[in-house]
Amino acid sequence: MKQNLSVRAALWLGVLSMITVPVLTYLMLKRAMAAGVGPLEILALLLLAFPAADLASGMVHWFFDTYGQVNTPIFGAAVISPFREHHRDQKAILSHGFVETNCNSFTLGLLTCLPLYYFTENVTAPWFHRGIAFFLLTFWQAILANQVHKYAHADANNRMVRTLQRLHLFLPPEHHAVHHAAPYDRHYCIASGCMNRLLDFLHFWRGLEAALRWVGMRPAGSGPTPVQV
Ligand SMILES: [Zn+2]
Ligand SMILES: [Zn+2]
Repeated sequence: MKQNLSVRAALWLGVLSMITVPVLTYLMLKRAMAAGVGPLEILALLLLAFPAADLASGMVHWFFDTYGQVNTPIFGAAVISPFREHHRDQKAILSHGFVETNCNSFTLGLLTCLPLYYFTENVTAPWFHRGIAFFLLTFWQAILANQVHKYAHADANNRMVRTLQRLHLFLPPEHHAVHHAAPYDRHYCIASGCMNRLLDFLHFWRGLEAALRWVGMRPAGSGPTPVQV
């Protein structure tokens, strides 16, 4: 299939990001430890990052499932189209390689980590570096949410992935299946899925849609699946 220019550019930017984001993360965590943030604190922040990353993954997924069209400038082909394709064919995600699955997330990571690294170079306050470490640990889980989502649709996974799914540290397949069942407007979080029940109970997504409707933004369809592309 002939890929258009914006999709190819997104792939190459993604590859560049996959090289630079881990390096920038390592340098910023090293800087945090040098500023006095201990390994146990980093472990605690990692645990706190699970619900935060899950919420972030849900926000992105919900937004692009609900708003915009495949011909929307910039985001249409690169971001909205894969989300819409996923609802037409859940297994298509399995034919995507690592780069195609994760390039958009890593590009967002680069656009965030690069300024964060340069503009915080001279900050020494430990509380600030704790915040940076929490942000990075959250961000990494959110960045890898598409890969974890792909595992949730795989027919077979290795033992480590299956264990992480059973522990709800990775999105469990049966839990994610709720998102792909009628009425197709629940369980948007795709990192660990730990926030889904709470957010659905609170009618969180309907609340956001009502708030956006109030400022004039209308959903593209009545839910992820009914959207016509
Ligand atoms: Zn969806
Ligand atoms: Zn899915």
